[in-house]
Amino acid sequence: MAQSVVNKNFVGIDLGGTNIKIGILNDAGEKLYYRTIPTYVERGADSATHRMAEAVEEAIEAAGIKREDVAQVGLGSPGTLDLAEGKLVRPSNLPGWDFYPIQSKLAEYSNLPVTFAHDGPAAAFAEYWVGAGKGEPGLIVLTLGTGVGCGIVLDGHVWNGIHSHGGEAGHNIIDTSENARLCKCGQRGHLEAYASATGVANRTIEYVEAEFKTSLTERVRARKRNDEIPKMVFEEAEKGTSSPFASLKRRRAISPTAWSPSFTRSTRPAFCSAAP
Ligand SMILES: [Zn+2]
Repeated sequence: MAQSVVNKNFVGIDLGGTNIKIGILNDAGEKLYYRTIPTYVERGADSATHRMAEAVEEAIEAAGIKREDVAQVGLGSPGTLDLAEGKLVRPSNLPGWDFYPIQSKLAEYSNLPVTFAHDGPAAAFAEYWVGAGKGEPGLIVLTLGTGVGCGIVLDGHVWNGIHSHGGEAGHNIIDTSENARLCKCGQRGHLEAYASATGVANRTIEYVEAEFKTSLTERVRARKRNDEIPKMVFEEAEKGTSSPFASLKRRRAISPTAWSPSFTRSTRPAFCSAAP
């Protein structure tokens, strides 16, 4: 008698400072269901973890699968993290959530096994598995959301680095001038203050309000519709992403053959370009 084959599915959760994204994938990496819920950072880590567990339950039902067909929940979180202990440490985009044992709490509230990862490396592995880096030996991904995340895959392995800081490119200094923009971490001139979705939005508003002459200001003023603005901002921001990639490649600690900056909340899909 032929043995029945059980297709395992996975729940993926991307915890962000603004939204929590929840998806269900099959073992080929195909999306079965996707939704977002607000993070409500100010309500605290435990409240958010309870709502994550409820959303997982609803997602399983909406995807039309059975709970026993879910192999794992994969939780990606912004750093800093203690991966071995399954804890947040001091996540700068989740103020007040310090040292929360999020892996064990989500497992308890959802009654499912939970794998815990830094969000940048999790995104990088997804791109390596079924996305922009499929077939490539290595990959660097920048994720541009509330903050700037980064993930590195080398020869098929996620590189977490010491204290999960392996991909923390958001705090690379790209502007050393005295008046460089202030980063949320308290220091100046960091990539995150310029290229995160929050940074891009803040800069756009400042430029337009201050009547600075920039290519973006002129384009924003000449627009026919407001919904054209995000694409313009992306195109201007995209010019700025070459600097951190050049920096990462120059270090030669890594030798990526592909990179993939992606806006986590953009309507534009992630893209990939072969490195020289
Ligand atoms: Zn910083």
